[in-house]
Amino acid sequence: MSKSSIEWTQMTWNPTTGCNKVSAGCKFCYALTMSKRLKAMGQKKYENSFKLTIHPDTLEIPYTWKNPKTVFVNSMSDLFHKNIPLDYIKKVFKVMNDNQQHTFQILTKRADLLAEYDKKNQLNWTPNIWMGVSVEDERVTERINLLRDIKAEIKFLSLEPLIGPIQNLNLQNIDWVIVGGESGFKARPLKKEWIIEIKNICKDMKVPFFFKQWGKPEFNVNRKDPTIDKKNINHAKGGCQLNGKIYRELPVKKRSTLKVA
Ligand code: SF4
Repeated sequence: MSKSSIEWTQMTWNPTTGCNKVSAGCKFCYALTMSKRLKAMGQKKYENSFKLTIHPDTLEIPYTWKNPKTVFVNSMSDLFHKNIPLDYIKKVFKVMNDNQQHTFQILTKRADLLAEYDKKNQLNWTPNIWMGVSVEDERVTERINLLRDIKAEIKFLSLEPLIGPIQNLNLQNIDWVIVGGESGFKARPLKKEWIIEIKNICKDMKVPFFFKQWGKPEFNVNRKDPTIDKKNINHAKGGCQLNGKIYRELPVKKRSTLKVA
């Protein structure tokens, strides 16, 4: 478990590590780079680098947290990777079911397997489990269609890194939308018009909208955005203002302790 700098969560918990790339959004996978780095630093958990590995010893960790937490599950992997045994996924769910004082946020790009397990009633959705899919552009919006019917109480989209427009975004049965740009040396640009279109759909559909960050300062249409400054209390990569405002809305049915500035 580690404290997270991700704006929409508090900490991360990784009962599995490792993955492999599935679509354009994975091109500069942060978890891949970080896993290699952690292996080089001699961290035992990452001795397999980015090869998919389950860590049963981590299943006890949430039972030890004293205060309610908001936790991003598997920031270094994908819980619905086909090589993770369903029995192990059920164990991860059991930990989340047993610890309803905490809010667990799961994100996957493998919505097909998520939908299959859900349809077969293999997943026990307590209200503290938020389920999301990552979508980078409109080539992979089928993930949203698969998420829509999942039995999780809170269903959310992480449109990050957004690398293309998503026209006619259908937010039926979706409770929260996060948008963010890509960071890093070769990051692909984020366009303001893509963000505004998504924000407007969120407004029309009354879905909370969370604009995480622009990715790189050069993608930000306002180079004077004060949140570009690392000393700013709301600093985010590339800044996080949109038309001079910070959008960090949270799901209405929120039951977590997540505090946003
Ligand atoms: S699915 Fe996520 S963790 Fe896996 S390679 Fe893609 S970006 Fe990385």
